[in-house]
Formats: sequence, C-alpha cells, structure tokens
Amino acid sequence: MKHLLLAFALALCAIAPARAWSNHALASYRAFEVLPEVAQAPPVAAEPLESFLAAQAAPIARLLAAQDAWAQSHIAHYPPLPAALRFDPAAAHQGAPALRRAFLMALRVSPESRFALYVQPDPWGPEPAAAALPHDAVSALPLREKDGEAHRFVRLEAGEPVAPLAVLSSASDEPDYGMDVNLWQDSPSAWGPLYGFGPLPFGNPALDFATQAPFHMGFYHESPIIYAAAGFLRRTYPELRVHQFMGLSRLAFESGHAYWGWRFAGLAAHYVQDLTQPYHARLAPGFSTTRLIAIQLLAALGMPGRRNDMVVLLSNRHFVLERYESQMVQAGGQVRKTTALENALHDGRQDGADGTWDDATLRDIVSLQSFQLGEAVTQQLLACAPARYVSDPGFDFGVEGGTIDLMAEVARQGPQAQATLQASIATLMGHFGAHSRALVRAILAPSRQP
Ligand SMILES: [Zn+2]
Repeated sequence: MKHLLLAFALALCAIAPARAWSNHALASYRAFEVLPEVAQAPPVAAEPLESFLAAQAAPIARLLAAQDAWAQSHIAHYPPLPAALRFDPAAAHQGAPALRRAFLMALRVSPESRFALYVQPDPWGPEPAAAALPHDAVSALPLREKDGEAHRFVRLEAGEPVAPLAVLSSASDEPDYGMDVNLWQDSPSAWGPLYGFGPLPFGNPALDFATQAPFHMGFYHESPIIYAAAGFLRRTYPELRVHQFMGLSRLAFESGHAYWGWRFAGLAAHYVQDLTQPYHARLAPGFSTTRLIAIQLLAALGMPGRRNDMVVLLSNRHFVLERYESQMVQAGGQVRKTTALENALHDGRQDGADGTWDDATLRDIVSLQSFQLGEAVTQQLLACAPARYVSDPGFDFGVEGGTIDLMAEVARQGPQAQATLQASIATLMGHFGAHSRALVRAILAPSRQP
C-alpha cells in the first residue's frame, strides 16, 4: 500500500502544476453580462482593502470566527484556524500594513497577495483611458510567458467609479495570482508553517504555483479504492475558499462597501469555475479505476513505464483542453464576433430560477457534473486533437504548448473534428456560466436561500 501511495503521489506531481481555465476574467465578462443584477447595477466606488477592513473590523472578526466553526463541521479534514491567527479587530488601530496582514493570515491566504485596485479591461469594451499597471503590482507570482497570453491590468484610483461587471469579472481571475501559494507546512514561506494545513497533500512543495492546486481542485467523487490508497486526495479545499469569499461578499454588500461585495464575489466564483474543468474534479479522466490500480501496481512492482506514460498523457490532455479554450476565448475577443463559446457562456437555460446555492452545491452539483464529463471530454480530445498532443507520452505539451496554435492544428484535422471539440468546450463553458451566475445570485439574494 505504501508503494501504491507513493505512485499516486508521483502521478499527481505532474498533474498539479496546471492552472485550469486560462484567464477567467475573459470568460466571466461574457457569463455575467447577461445577468441583469450585474449588468444593470450602478457603478461602485473603488475602495482600498485597508479602508474596508478598518471600517468593518468587528463584523469581519465575527464572520471569520463563524466561518471557522462552519468549516469544522462541514469540511472533512479541515484543520481549524490556529488561535494565533484569529482576526483581532484591534488590528485596525495598528496601521494599514498590520491590519491587511492580520486579515490575510486569518483567511490563510498568502500575505503577499496584492489586492491592488485595478481591472482587467473587457476586450469587447471601449479602450480604457487609465494607466496600465505592471504585472507585479497585481500578482504575487512571477510573470509566466509559458501560457501564451499576457494579462492586461488597468489602474483604479481610490474612489473612482467602476462598473460592477468589471470588478466581478476581473476578480474571478485573481486567485491565480499567488493567493493560495506556499500555504503548507513544508512550503518555503514564512507563513506556510504557521497555517496548520499540514504538508502539501500532493505535488512538489518547491514548485510555487503547483502548491495552490489543493485549493483549486476538488477530488470528491473518486472510488473508495482510490481514497484507500491515496487518502491525501481528500485534502482539497475549494469549498473553504468559496465559503470564505461568499460570506465576505455578503458582509461587504450589507455594510455599504459594494466594491468589495463585487470583488469578493469574483474571488468566490474563481473556485467554482475551476471545478467546471473535468481535470480539476477528477484524478484521471479517461482511465478506469481498475486500469489506474493496475498501472500503479505495475509501477509498485518495478515497472513504472505505463504509469509514467499515464502521467504525461493526463498532463498533456489537461493542457490541450485549456489551451484550446484559451485560444477560443481570445479569438472571440479579438474579432468581437459571437461564436459557440460566447453563446454557451451567455446561455441562461441551465440557470435555476431563484439561483439556489447551498453548502453542498460545489461538491454535489458542480464537481460531480464535471467529474462525470471527464470521460466524454477525454474521448472527444482523443478523437479531435492531433494524436501527438493527446496520445503520445513522448511529447510534453506543458513545455511547448504555449506556442502551439492548437486551433489551427485542430482545424486541419477537418471540420468534423473542429466542431466536436468546440462543442465539447462550449458544454463546459455553459456550465462555467450557469454556475457562476447561480453563485452570484445566491450572494445577492441570501434570503431566498434554503
Ligand atoms: Zn485556479
């Protein structure tokens, strides 16, 4: 069993670095622009994080304590917040840097998170007049050229009016800017060992970006055999982040800080959106449990070839799916012409009438749907993408993928292949849009919730 566990851990080392849907903001603009509660909401005044914290210190302290209690009773394997990290409202009198740090550490996110005042402009909207903000002012992670796209950040001044759609959509990409990096006992950070999350459940603790994976993936529906062999798979925490940011969003709206209401709602939406990517909700889509166990047993017996191949194939398919989605969403923005992708993001037919969202929705609806689609999506990838990228363990898409024009290559496979793959991604983007809207509706109308 120990060997088997090690084999799974190794398999996940390669899976963990992926970053899910590339730029959430671009898809979120389309998903939320059809929600009247967002699109018709009046502009809000940008507010520095510290001024929201100072104004609401006592209610925030009560909320965070209640959230810790909630997580202890609702999230299996939740490590309680260490007493030393509890948010003390007196921090409001210790100056802005201390206040911000106390809040971020009570949330157990990286204290290096920027929370700058900015938006990512909508490529479909007018050209913004404001100054650009450098990457490092917005993101705590080094700029990565690898994913083949550059983000564009525009500065907001404190007090400046801004459209809720822009705040919400921009924030939906922000959890990928280093917030969840190095939060573990074995992390090379000053704060990780204080947070009480234990050692990194899977992946390599030295690869900073990979260490966020347990907050951006949710393995809730694997077979009991898999959990028995690899119990660490249960230590994923997207539910914690959704709960934290939903609660903060409601508090901000109710206390008259609408800018932070929208911003926190966007942060919560990110984790929901990540779980609509089947490779974030399932350990090994396209591999049956029996096959998975057989491959791991062979590896444990000293024949790691199949396992190593599987690791590369899973990683490649994961990247191919995201690369294609990324190219589709960017292509739509460049030509400003509605394609199947935008239609899917706009599609409200799967939206619930009242936007119900409860404690089980992320696990039982969002991630289950995504888990169940993993098989079909993988078969579509295998049928439509060039074989070299999805069936050849000798090729590493993670290394070379950012420069590959996957859309053009799939088009060369023929119109049928192109249509199938686009439909497959459109289905996933339909779920991305519907679940994002359900979440935001639930935040805006908590009284209608069960
Ligand atoms: Zn993510």
